[in-house]
Amino acid sequence: MVIKPREKGGMGVINLKVQNEGLLMKQLHKFYSKQDVPWVHLIWDTYYPTSFVLNQQASVRAVQEAKDLASMFSLPLSEQAYKELLMLHDLLLESNIDDDISKVFGKLWKRKCTMRTKFLFWLLLVDRFNTKGMLFRRNMLSSHELSCVMCVASTEEDVDHLFFQCSFGRCCWQKLNIQWNMSLPLHQRILHVLENLGGMFCMELIVITTWVIWKTRNRKVFDGILAAHNCWIMRFMEEVKLQSLRLNEVSRHIVISWLSSL
Ligand SMILES: [Zn+2]
Repeated sequence: MVIKPREKGGMGVINLKVQNEGLLMKQLHKFYSKQDVPWVHLIWDTYYPTSFVLNQQASVRAVQEAKDLASMFSLPLSEQAYKELLMLHDLLLESNIDDDISKVFGKLWKRKCTMRTKFLFWLLLVDRFNTKGMLFRRNMLSSHELSCVMCVASTEEDVDHLFFQCSFGRCCWQKLNIQWNMSLPLHQRILHVLENLGGMFCMELIVITTWVIWKTRNRKVFDGILAAHNCWIMRFMEEVKLQSLRLNEVSRHIVISWLSSL
């Protein structure tokens, strides 16, 4: 996960093994796209007088979405080409191009708020948030310690409950006029809100709200400080003011005006 590209939800740390394979793939690409390089001509002319691929410019997505993979090749295939087709088939099954997930990660890392808040939200998106449910799954908490501390429902504290279904979290979002469609998966839920609300700073508000809910929860769990809504709103406003310093003057003015209307 750490080595995944940022737009795919990772942290973008380079994996040298993958990079090396990528560089080797570049050579393969030169070969398969029959680039005007002496060694490419030599191998094609010697070993592959004709190509099996019908459309050599086809994208990965086009290949992945093809109804019948074999329909993209001139048949019959040679033994070697058939083996490569089977490998390609396995690779395509492993890869997962999901537009919604990529869009959310793309929107997250481009936002103006601080890296620590974005990192916290990233943990939420990739299901690595240390809620009580997560600690239980890692055998770090017993089953009778799972209840959410932010409400009286005695519900297990997981990401969906703490941030979206808990009475405390719902009041926070209501204050900001944000309605979550809980029938959607998390990434689509976020895109749905962004599309409906639109506007500048919307993603930042979601990230900051999540951040302040988590900090309020931690103050309750570790310091025994009551989780009151008026305290949450004060902390939220302070955080938005701080984060708005990263905006240009016009945008900051709009955000501060909006804050005063809350
Ligand atoms: Zn709760």
